[in-house]
Amino acid sequence: MDEGRWIELADGVFARRYAELDLTVGLVLGANACLVVDTRGDAVQGAELAAAVRAVTPLPWSVVLTHAHFDHCFGTSAFTPCPVWAHEGCRAELLAHGQDARAEWAARYADEGRPDIARRIATSEIVPPDHLVSREQELTVGGRRVRLAHFGPAHTGHDLVVRVPDAGVLFVGDLVENGPEGTFTAESFGPDAAVGGWPAALAGILAAEPAVVVPGHGDPVTPDFVAAQREPLVVLGGLCAAVAAGEVAVDQAVARSPYPADVTRAALSRT
Ligand SMILES: [Zn+2]
Repeated sequence: MDEGRWIELADGVFARRYAELDLTVGLVLGANACLVVDTRGDAVQGAELAAAVRAVTPLPWSVVLTHAHFDHCFGTSAFTPCPVWAHEGCRAELLAHGQDARAEWAARYADEGRPDIARRIATSEIVPPDHLVSREQELTVGGRRVRLAHFGPAHTGHDLVVRVPDAGVLFVGDLVENGPEGTFTAESFGPDAAVGGWPAALAGILAAEPAVVVPGHGDPVTPDFVAAQREPLVVLGGLCAAVAAGEVAVDQAVARSPYPADVTRAALSRT
């Protein structure tokens, strides 16, 4: 069993790190309620997280999902019934494609020789969020202000960031990745990625002037890390636009890209 590890980022604001997928989730404590940021990738993983939250606090919880990718939200059933916040596009995505994604990832894990995880994904209930955000929403979590914001299409069409203003902490899902490669991978640019919009989303993160940014994968980072990720993304977005306009050939774009060829090709395939 893959046990996680809590990191206290500020008073009553935690990140929880996992070896599995290098995933990072969050927890915000208010005076008489708490908020769980993302629920892990299947019902068993969700139950582990729920128990870990209960080891920290007995307070009633709400859930907020950063986006609809399975590793961030297929554990939600371990927390319901409770309010489940997300961008409205997250609900639409889970309703339209959640079952297909579940079958696809179960097959992928089975192919990779991990039948236990495959079975757990295949039998996890997909829970559509019931508290929806289109652009911005302020919540009160047990008296503590938390702001949810969507900065436009980027990693998906419905990325939601979770800001705890009194702590200077911003949970950003997969808008930022702090993986072993130190930056984005081909996997970052999935079918629902919008490369051209991504720099604006990172600008939105930086404009919030956070002290700590919590990525969906990897350890928490500083705003400087986010700014450094933004620069090559701007170049990549320009190359994608140029290829789409027929001004630059794919091979030229790959040669000029600040990213490895596989990452650039993945991004170009989404244009
Ligand atoms: Zn993702």
